[in-house]
Amino acid sequence: MAGNREISGEAAGPVVPDFPSLRDDIPQFPPARPAEAGEPQTDWRRSLSDAVRDPAELLELLRLPADLLPAARQAAGLFPLVVPRSFVSRMKVGDPADPLLRQVLPFAEELDVRTDLVLDPVGDSDARIAPGLLQKYEGRALLVSTGVCAVNCRYCFRRHYPYGDEPRRLDDWQPAIDALAADDTLHEAILSGGDPLVLTDARLAALVERLESIPHLKRLRIHSRLPIVLPDRITSSLIDLLRDSRLQAVMVVHANHAHEIQGDCAEALRTLVRSGIPTLNQAVLLNGVNDSVAALAALCESLGNLGVLPYYLHQFDRVAGAGHFEVAEARGLELVEQLRAKLSGYLVPRYVREIAGRRSKTPL
Ligand SMILES: *Cc1c(COP(=O)(O)O)cnc(C)c1O
Ligand code: SF4
Repeated sequence: MAGNREISGEAAGPVVPDFPSLRDDIPQFPPARPAEAGEPQTDWRRSLSDAVRDPAELLELLRLPADLLPAARQAAGLFPLVVPRSFVSRMKVGDPADPLLRQVLPFAEELDVRTDLVLDPVGDSDARIAPGLLQKYEGRALLVSTGVCAVNCRYCFRRHYPYGDEPRRLDDWQPAIDALAADDTLHEAILSGGDPLVLTDARLAALVERLESIPHLKRLRIHSRLPIVLPDRITSSLIDLLRDSRLQAVMVVHANHAHEIQGDCAEALRTLVRSGIPTLNQAVLLNGVNDSVAALAALCESLGNLGVLPYYLHQFDRVAGAGHFEVAEARGLELVEQLRAKLSGYLVPRYVREIAGRRSKTPL
């Protein structure tokens, strides 16, 4: 996703790709379609560069009234609209309240100035132990692998993250690799971001290889929304890369509504699960998206039917520009209580909030 544009006041535009020194190895923006003759481009990279970035086009695709456009354009100036076409195809045409649309369409409320919301609600900046490396908890540390995402989620708690300060070239990662190597209490590296799966297999493999060379690391966790919003990304070569690693791979995907788990997305999740990679989901409790027992139960059932286990249901992190997504904690507790009465125990996610400075996510 697009980092600190809103802070720097830079005009919104195409997302800045990661690893600019390796330009041939990254998605190119603006979209190059069709691909130049002789320029190899795999399907998922085309899907990525082909994402919808213009609010007018999104409204048109979904046959929504043009009066939504001025606010959408204005809010997109703070944090650009990006949504892959596969994800758009799972939205209901003509429904401005569609739960998938609501996650990606810029809204007028984002422009409200609210003093109760902050730029860094989860204390990322205090947890940064090296460029691109965050450690909050014992035994695991998180790499901000890239600033780019396939989708810009309006409620993202990192929508103001200063990605511009983080490593881009592979060599820029050396201080983070050294920090991981120096602390033998660390057993798990988490690739997050941004979204690590926007990196090509070659980039990922290079990073993973460096992690594999650290003997005390045992597990590699990938936090990604691509299996949901850009399912083409789950290729056999990616699965081979993860399965062949010395590190035990764990995939944590991010879906918030059962309508996301359809068609090509369901196929991608099934592929991941059948390939033997433990696959979990984290969701965020979001006003107007999944704040009902029916919506949450359908999400957890759909995941469970594919062998994906609901891991966390996150209480909204109070990030500036997204306060309209917040659901009161008391309501969340009620919902989870009702879920518990409805679902197999293993399909009930842990309802948590992230409180800066704590030693783990805080169960609610
Ligand atoms: C959320 C988070 C993790 C992962 O926490 P788990 O409870 O193990 O899923 C790790 N590092 C950071 C910095 C985090 O924000
Ligand atoms: S929630 Fe995840 S996928 Fe969505 S914009 Fe934020 S980091 Fe990217």
